[in-house]
Amino acid sequence: MRNITAGMVYIVGAGPGDPELITIKAMRRIQQADVVLYDRLISKELLGYASSQAELVYCGKAPGSHAMPQHLINEALVNYARQGKSVVRLKGGDPLVFGRGAEEALALATQGIPFEIVPGITSAIGAAAAAGIPVTHREYAASFACVTGSRCHGDKSPIRWDLLAHSVDTLAIYMGVSELPAIREELLKHGKASSTPVALIERGTTTRQRTIVGTLANIHTLAISMKLSNPALIIIGDVVQVREQLLHAEQQAIAQIG
Ligand code: SAH
Repeated sequence: MRNITAGMVYIVGAGPGDPELITIKAMRRIQQADVVLYDRLISKELLGYASSQAELVYCGKAPGSHAMPQHLINEALVNYARQGKSVVRLKGGDPLVFGRGAEEALALATQGIPFEIVPGITSAIGAAAAAGIPVTHREYAASFACVTGSRCHGDKSPIRWDLLAHSVDTLAIYMGVSELPAIREELLKHGKASSTPVALIERGTTTRQRTIVGTLANIHTLAISMKLSNPALIIIGDVVQVREQLLHAEQQAIAQIG
Protein backbone atom coordinates (compact mmCIF):
# COMPACT_ATOMS: atom_id res chain seq x y z
CA MET A 1 0.00 0.00 0.00
CA ARG A 2 1.37 3.38 -1.01
CA ASN A 3 0.60 6.36 1.21
CA ILE A 4 -1.01 9.46 -0.17
CA THR A 5 1.44 12.24 -1.09
CA ALA A 6 1.15 15.91 -0.18
CA GLY A 7 0.74 18.34 -3.05
CA MET A 8 -0.82 15.70 -5.23
CA VAL A 9 -4.33 15.38 -6.63
CA TYR A 10 -6.15 12.04 -6.74
CA ILE A 11 -8.94 11.89 -9.30
CA VAL A 12 -11.03 9.16 -7.79
CA GLY A 13 -14.06 7.17 -8.94
CA ALA A 14 -16.63 6.66 -6.17
CA GLY A 15 -18.51 3.87 -7.95
CA PRO A 16 -22.10 3.76 -9.13
CA GLY A 17 -24.09 4.71 -6.02
CA ASP A 18 -23.90 1.94 -3.42
CA PRO A 19 -21.07 3.18 -1.16
CA GLU A 20 -19.78 -0.39 -0.78
CA LEU A 21 -18.96 -0.48 -4.48
CA ILE A 22 -15.99 1.86 -4.10
CA THR A 23 -12.51 0.34 -4.54
CA ILE A 24 -10.12 -0.19 -1.64
CA LYS A 25 -7.66 2.20 -3.26
CA ALA A 26 -10.27 4.94 -3.59
CA MET A 27 -11.32 4.45 0.04
CA ARG A 28 -7.70 4.79 1.22
CA ARG A 29 -7.27 7.99 -0.76
CA ILE A 30 -10.37 9.46 0.94
CA GLN A 31 -9.19 8.41 4.41
CA GLN A 32 -5.82 10.10 3.90
CA ALA A 33 -7.00 13.29 2.19
CA ASP A 34 -6.70 16.86 3.53
CA VAL A 35 -9.36 18.07 1.11
CA VAL A 36 -12.12 16.21 -0.74
CA LEU A 37 -13.85 17.99 -3.62
CA TYR A 38 -16.91 15.92 -4.41
CA ASP A 39 -19.65 15.69 -7.02
CA ARG A 40 -23.41 15.46 -6.66
CA LEU A 41 -23.83 11.79 -7.56
CA ILE A 42 -21.43 10.27 -5.04
CA SER A 43 -22.82 8.53 -1.97
CA LYS A 44 -22.55 11.05 0.90
CA GLU A 45 -21.83 8.11 3.20
CA LEU A 46 -18.33 7.99 1.65
CA LEU A 47 -17.52 11.45 3.02
CA GLY A 48 -17.85 9.95 6.49
CA TYR A 49 -14.60 8.06 5.81
CA ALA A 50 -12.60 11.29 5.44
CA SER A 51 -10.62 12.50 8.47
CA SER A 52 -12.53 14.81 10.81
CA GLN A 53 -10.00 17.54 9.92
CA ALA A 54 -10.49 17.14 6.18
CA GLU A 55 -12.12 19.98 4.29
CA LEU A 56 -15.13 18.82 2.24
CA VAL A 57 -15.99 20.93 -0.79
CA TYR A 58 -19.15 20.39 -2.85
CA CYS A 59 -18.66 20.91 -6.61
CA GLY A 60 -21.77 19.15 -7.83
CA LYS A 61 -23.75 20.02 -10.86
CA ALA A 62 -27.44 19.25 -11.17
CA PRO A 63 -28.64 18.91 -14.79
CA GLY A 64 -29.02 22.43 -16.16
CA SER A 65 -27.29 24.17 -13.27
CA HIS A 66 -23.70 24.59 -12.18
CA ALA A 67 -22.70 24.62 -8.52
CA MET A 68 -19.09 25.40 -9.44
CA PRO A 69 -17.99 26.08 -13.03
CA GLN A 70 -15.35 23.69 -14.35
CA HIS A 71 -12.59 26.32 -14.56
CA LEU A 72 -13.08 27.15 -10.86
CA ILE A 73 -12.90 23.44 -9.96
CA ASN A 74 -9.63 23.19 -11.90
CA GLU A 75 -8.30 26.29 -10.15
CA ALA A 76 -9.30 24.98 -6.72
CA LEU A 77 -7.51 21.67 -7.36
CA VAL A 78 -4.34 23.52 -8.35
CA ASN A 79 -4.52 25.90 -5.36
CA TYR A 80 -5.06 23.19 -2.76
CA ALA A 81 -2.21 21.12 -4.22
CA ARG A 82 0.10 24.18 -4.18
CA GLN A 83 -0.65 24.55 -0.46
CA GLY A 84 0.94 21.11 -0.08
CA LYS A 85 -2.36 19.35 0.59
CA SER A 86 -3.38 15.86 -0.41
CA VAL A 87 -6.39 16.48 -2.58
CA VAL A 88 -9.07 13.96 -3.55
CA ARG A 89 -11.37 14.84 -6.40
CA LEU A 90 -14.24 12.41 -5.88
CA LYS A 91 -16.49 11.70 -8.84
CA GLY A 92 -19.46 9.41 -9.44
CA GLY A 93 -18.84 6.11 -11.22
CA ASP A 94 -15.54 6.19 -13.11
CA PRO A 95 -13.85 9.60 -13.33
CA LEU A 96 -13.07 9.23 -17.04
CA VAL A 97 -16.49 8.01 -18.24
CA PHE A 98 -18.45 11.21 -18.94
CA GLY A 99 -16.76 12.60 -15.87
CA ARG A 100 -14.42 15.30 -17.17
CA GLY A 101 -11.63 13.68 -15.16
CA ALA A 102 -9.27 13.95 -18.12
CA GLU A 103 -9.87 17.70 -18.40
CA GLU A 104 -9.02 18.12 -14.74
CA ALA A 105 -5.91 15.94 -15.05
CA LEU A 106 -4.73 18.00 -18.03
CA ALA A 107 -5.32 21.25 -16.17
CA LEU A 108 -3.17 19.89 -13.32
CA ALA A 109 -0.44 18.70 -15.66
CA THR A 110 -0.29 22.12 -17.32
CA GLN A 111 0.42 23.64 -13.90
CA GLY A 112 3.01 20.97 -13.05
CA ILE A 113 0.85 19.34 -10.35
CA PRO A 114 1.24 15.55 -10.03
CA PHE A 115 -1.95 13.51 -10.15
CA GLU A 116 -3.16 9.94 -10.02
CA ILE A 117 -6.37 8.55 -11.52
CA VAL A 118 -8.21 5.91 -9.50
CA PRO A 119 -10.84 4.15 -11.64
CA GLY A 120 -14.30 3.27 -10.39
CA ILE A 121 -17.20 1.06 -11.44
CA THR A 122 -19.10 3.11 -13.97
CA SER A 123 -22.85 3.45 -13.35
CA ALA A 124 -23.88 1.59 -16.51
CA ILE A 125 -22.05 -1.53 -15.42
CA GLY A 126 -23.13 -1.21 -11.79
CA ALA A 127 -26.77 -0.36 -12.45
CA ALA A 128 -27.24 -2.98 -15.16
CA ALA A 129 -25.78 -5.70 -12.95
CA ALA A 130 -27.90 -4.61 -9.99
CA ALA A 131 -31.00 -4.71 -12.22
CA GLY A 132 -30.21 -8.24 -13.42
CA ILE A 133 -29.11 -7.19 -16.91
CA PRO A 134 -25.85 -8.55 -18.36
CA VAL A 135 -24.44 -5.98 -20.80
CA THR A 136 -23.01 -8.82 -22.88
CA HIS A 137 -24.38 -12.33 -23.32
CA ARG A 138 -23.33 -15.19 -25.57
CA GLU A 139 -26.79 -15.41 -27.14
CA TYR A 140 -27.83 -11.77 -27.23
CA ALA A 141 -24.94 -9.34 -27.26
CA ALA A 142 -21.33 -9.43 -28.42
CA SER A 143 -20.82 -5.72 -27.88
CA PHE A 144 -21.96 -2.82 -25.76
CA ALA A 145 -21.41 0.90 -25.92
CA CYS A 146 -21.53 3.67 -23.35
CA VAL A 147 -23.18 6.64 -25.02
CA THR A 148 -24.07 10.12 -23.83
CA GLY A 149 -27.71 11.02 -24.40
CA SER A 150 -27.11 14.74 -24.41
CA ARG A 151 -24.56 17.00 -25.96
CA CYS A 152 -23.52 20.22 -24.25
CA HIS A 153 -22.80 23.49 -25.91
CA GLY A 154 -19.34 23.29 -27.45
CA ASP A 155 -19.11 19.47 -27.51
CA LYS A 156 -17.33 18.46 -30.69
CA SER A 157 -18.10 14.80 -31.38
CA PRO A 158 -21.65 14.12 -32.63
CA ILE A 159 -23.59 11.06 -31.42
CA ARG A 160 -23.72 8.64 -34.34
CA TRP A 161 -27.21 7.20 -33.77
CA ASP A 162 -27.17 5.89 -37.37
CA LEU A 163 -24.19 3.64 -36.56
CA LEU A 164 -25.20 2.85 -32.99
CA ALA A 165 -28.61 1.62 -34.18
CA HIS A 166 -26.95 -1.17 -36.16
CA SER A 167 -23.43 -1.89 -35.11
CA VAL A 168 -23.68 -2.21 -31.31
CA ASP A 169 -25.80 -4.84 -29.54
CA THR A 170 -26.33 -3.18 -26.15
CA LEU A 171 -26.54 0.58 -25.72
CA ALA A 172 -26.04 2.07 -22.25
CA ILE A 173 -27.11 5.68 -22.43
CA TYR A 174 -26.05 8.17 -19.76
CA MET A 175 -27.66 11.59 -19.23
CA GLY A 176 -30.53 10.59 -21.47
CA VAL A 177 -33.64 11.05 -19.31
CA SER A 178 -34.76 14.37 -20.76
CA GLU A 179 -33.70 13.27 -24.27
CA LEU A 180 -35.46 9.90 -24.21
CA PRO A 181 -38.16 10.78 -26.81
CA ALA A 182 -35.51 12.17 -29.19
CA ILE A 183 -33.15 9.20 -28.68
CA ARG A 184 -35.99 6.77 -29.38
CA GLU A 185 -36.94 8.71 -32.52
CA GLU A 186 -33.36 8.64 -33.79
CA LEU A 187 -32.96 4.89 -33.25
CA LEU A 188 -36.31 4.09 -34.89
CA LYS A 189 -35.50 6.43 -37.76
CA HIS A 190 -32.26 4.53 -38.36
CA GLY A 191 -34.03 1.19 -38.44
CA LYS A 192 -33.83 -0.18 -34.90
CA ALA A 193 -36.84 -2.49 -34.34
CA SER A 194 -39.61 -0.97 -32.22
CA SER A 195 -39.80 -4.31 -30.36
CA THR A 196 -36.21 -3.86 -29.04
CA PRO A 197 -36.31 -4.24 -25.24
CA VAL A 198 -35.40 -1.19 -23.14
CA ALA A 199 -34.78 -0.81 -19.42
CA LEU A 200 -34.64 2.45 -17.49
CA ILE A 201 -32.69 2.15 -14.27
CA GLU A 202 -33.13 4.96 -11.78
CA ARG A 203 -30.66 5.41 -8.88
CA GLY A 204 -28.96 2.15 -9.81
CA THR A 205 -27.26 0.11 -7.03
CA THR A 206 -28.73 2.34 -4.30
CA THR A 207 -31.47 1.33 -1.85
CA ARG A 208 -33.82 3.46 -3.97
CA GLN A 209 -33.11 1.69 -7.25
CA ARG A 210 -36.10 1.38 -9.60
CA THR A 211 -36.23 -0.38 -12.97
CA ILE A 212 -38.79 0.20 -15.69
CA VAL A 213 -38.89 -2.25 -18.59
CA GLY A 214 -40.53 -1.76 -21.98
CA THR A 215 -39.66 -1.61 -25.65
CA LEU A 216 -38.60 1.16 -28.01
CA ALA A 217 -42.30 1.39 -28.97
CA ASN A 218 -43.56 2.42 -25.52
CA ILE A 219 -40.62 3.37 -23.31
CA HIS A 220 -41.12 7.14 -23.62
CA THR A 221 -44.71 6.93 -22.39
CA LEU A 222 -43.73 4.51 -19.60
CA ALA A 223 -41.06 6.97 -18.47
CA ILE A 224 -43.68 9.70 -18.15
CA SER A 225 -46.30 7.57 -16.44
CA MET A 226 -43.74 6.16 -13.99
CA LYS A 227 -42.27 9.63 -13.40
CA LEU A 228 -38.71 8.62 -14.24
CA SER A 229 -36.17 10.99 -12.70
CA ASN A 230 -32.40 11.50 -12.61
CA PRO A 231 -29.97 9.90 -12.24
CA ALA A 232 -31.04 7.15 -14.60
CA LEU A 233 -29.59 4.99 -17.32
CA ILE A 234 -31.22 3.75 -20.48
CA ILE A 235 -30.22 0.22 -21.48
CA ILE A 236 -31.33 -0.80 -24.96
CA GLY A 237 -30.94 -4.28 -26.41
CA ASP A 238 -32.00 -7.91 -26.26
CA VAL A 239 -30.00 -8.46 -23.06
CA VAL A 240 -32.84 -6.74 -21.19
CA GLN A 241 -34.82 -9.97 -21.71
CA VAL A 242 -32.38 -11.84 -19.50
CA ARG A 243 -33.42 -9.75 -16.49
CA GLU A 244 -36.47 -11.84 -15.60
CA GLN A 245 -34.55 -15.12 -15.84
CA LEU A 246 -31.70 -13.76 -13.74
CA LEU A 247 -33.91 -12.25 -11.03
CA HIS A 248 -35.94 -15.45 -10.87
CA ALA A 249 -32.78 -17.57 -10.58
CA GLU A 250 -31.47 -15.26 -7.86
CA GLN A 251 -34.68 -15.56 -5.85
CA GLN A 252 -34.67 -19.34 -6.17
CA ALA A 253 -31.07 -19.51 -4.99
CA ILE A 254 -31.90 -17.32 -1.98
CA ALA A 255 -35.00 -19.43 -1.20
CA GLN A 256 -32.87 -22.59 -1.28
CA ILE A 257 -30.41 -21.16 1.22
CA GLY A 258 -33.23 -19.86 3.44
N1 SAH B 1 -18.76 9.25 -14.40
C1 SAH B 1 -20.08 8.73 -14.20
C2 SAH B 1 -21.10 9.29 -15.18
C3 SAH B 1 -21.35 10.77 -15.02
S1 SAH B 1 -22.57 11.36 -16.12
C4 SAH B 1 -20.03 7.19 -14.29
O1 SAH B 1 -19.00 6.63 -14.68
O2 SAH B 1 -21.04 6.55 -13.97
C5 SAH B 1 -24.01 11.33 -15.12
C6 SAH B 1 -24.97 10.27 -15.60
O3 SAH B 1 -24.57 8.99 -15.11
C7 SAH B 1 -26.40 10.43 -15.11
O4 SAH B 1 -27.11 11.35 -15.90
C8 SAH B 1 -26.93 9.02 -15.27
O5 SAH B 1 -27.26 8.76 -16.61
C9 SAH B 1 -25.71 8.19 -14.92
N2 SAH B 1 -25.74 7.73 -13.52
C10 SAH B 1 -24.87 8.03 -12.54
N3 SAH B 1 -25.17 7.38 -11.40
C11 SAH B 1 -26.27 6.64 -11.67
C12 SAH B 1 -27.05 5.71 -10.92
N4 SAH B 1 -26.79 5.43 -9.63
N5 SAH B 1 -28.10 5.11 -11.54
C13 SAH B 1 -28.38 5.37 -12.83
N6 SAH B 1 -27.67 6.23 -13.58
C14 SAH B 1 -26.63 6.84 -13.03
